[in-house]
Amino acid sequence: MSPPRSQTQTRAETQVQTRPAPRPLPPPDDPRLLEDWRRRLDAVPEEVRTLLAEVVAAGGPALADHFYGDMLEDPRASRYLNVDQVRERLKPSLQRWLAELLSAGADGVEALHATQEHVGHVHARIGIPVDLVSRGARRLKDDLHAGIRQRAGSEGLALEAILCADGLVDIALESMTRAYSRSRDAAGQVDGAFRLFSLIQNIGTERERQRALLLTWENALLYALTSDAPGPAAPLQLSRSEFGLWFLHKGMASFGDTAETREVNLIAARMDSTLRARLPEATTAAARRELLDELRAGADAIRSLVTMMFDGIGDLESGRDALTRLLNRRFLPTILRREIALQANTGRQFAVLMLDLDHFKSINDTHGHEAGDRALKHVAALLVENTRGSDYLFRYGGEEFVVVLGSVSLDDAIAIAEGLRNAIASSPVVLADGTSLPLTASIGVAVQDGHPDYERVLARADAAMYQAKRGGRDRVVVDDGGLPDPPGVRALRG
Ligand code: GH3
Ligand code: MG
Ligand code: MG
Repeated sequence: MSPPRSQTQTRAETQVQTRPAPRPLPPPDDPRLLEDWRRRLDAVPEEVRTLLAEVVAAGGPALADHFYGDMLEDPRASRYLNVDQVRERLKPSLQRWLAELLSAGADGVEALHATQEHVGHVHARIGIPVDLVSRGARRLKDDLHAGIRQRAGSEGLALEAILCADGLVDIALESMTRAYSRSRDAAGQVDGAFRLFSLIQNIGTERERQRALLLTWENALLYALTSDAPGPAAPLQLSRSEFGLWFLHKGMASFGDTAETREVNLIAARMDSTLRARLPEATTAAARRELLDELRAGADAIRSLVTMMFDGIGDLESGRDALTRLLNRRFLPTILRREIALQANTGRQFAVLMLDLDHFKSINDTHGHEAGDRALKHVAALLVENTRGSDYLFRYGGEEFVVVLGSVSLDDAIAIAEGLRNAIASSPVVLADGTSLPLTASIGVAVQDGHPDYERVLARADAAMYQAKRGGRDRVVVDDGGLPDPPGVRALRG
């Protein structure tokens, strides 16, 4: 499929203008960390401050060389960092950071803290191992110590400067690690939720199905134990039932190792062994009745536990957007991180399309909110029809959608984007009263450029979409990679 280029512009043809990409929530305050930091900065004697500034200036690029030296050799980091990146951007930025860290006054603490938080979040998004950063910091301190010893006129001043520098580097690292852990924890929770979500497609239906299967097992047991010849115990065991198999293969994988899953396993195992031990001896109807009651009590307990587990993940329904049934944007980082890793490991490129419906507000204003909802569902269906099974479709916001295209070239991505644009422009939505309403969309395309931070590719697609709007709407604009870093990232990368 060859895209109609007349509708396709590259971003370079139009002026760059970006909207800020979504950023992580601001961290909760940690007054103790900030207090300690302020106190330390306040306590740095002027003489030491001057000495440290001289040491950093004299150390120059060598300080950054040592910081990044080990990191570049480590296979875990070389996946994310390349030599050019380090030379051109990270090293100058590290030097600047060090100078600010060691020369700031107490009133600079908030800004330093914000930078560290930002760096921590970026490291977490990229997946830079925190131990490598700690090692870099250790090397940095060694260099600082050597520089201080060389320049300080007296042993006393050297010691004082070393203590100050160490304290300041350590506290900056603590502030960064704090943000890093919080980011990783949050991401881990969402990743886990996504796994669960992809295993159990429809929680409500699955819960009812499993409750019904448990009941089917109970009925079979009831039938067997109230007959005169119940037969052997083995086929009646819960672990052999369809519910038992589901729980073993899918339930446990979905719910994970929790107190509830353990309890279910324990009760089920006890029930099966009771059945095996007691059924051969239960020769009277009364004995079988007693056994039946005991097993049903076990089934009741399992039913409550399983219901509880399903209810506990009820909010996973929000994994899909309720109106369009597309994926909720909270899973976007999970998918983009995975695609970035896939690209690093296999070289497969992916692309992001940012799609925003044109003049959507006027549909609501003229035809009512319901008509707007109908149009959104209609567009969602067109997205499903005109993408591949391997693509991910997200409702990103009100009338904004994100499509993640795996294993594509730039031309493939443009062709798919043009296909979508065309499908939307040529399939008006039909309203409840039969009115046919034309729709158009503006689409920004960005192909992943190897940058390890997923926010970057999103911001580029967003900027391209914005250009499509400015260019007249109903068009596809491709980001050509010349975009400046998103706000805040300069602090890290220079
Ligand atoms: P542009 O071409 O610049 O994108 O114009 P626009 O009118 O589409 O852009 P704008 O962002 O100003 O308006 C988006 C509108 O989408 C505003 C809001 O009322 C509407 N909207 C957001 N979510 C929903 C929804 O779930 N249902 C309906 N019916 N409307 C929604
Ligand atoms: Mg919009
Ligand atoms: Mg819009």
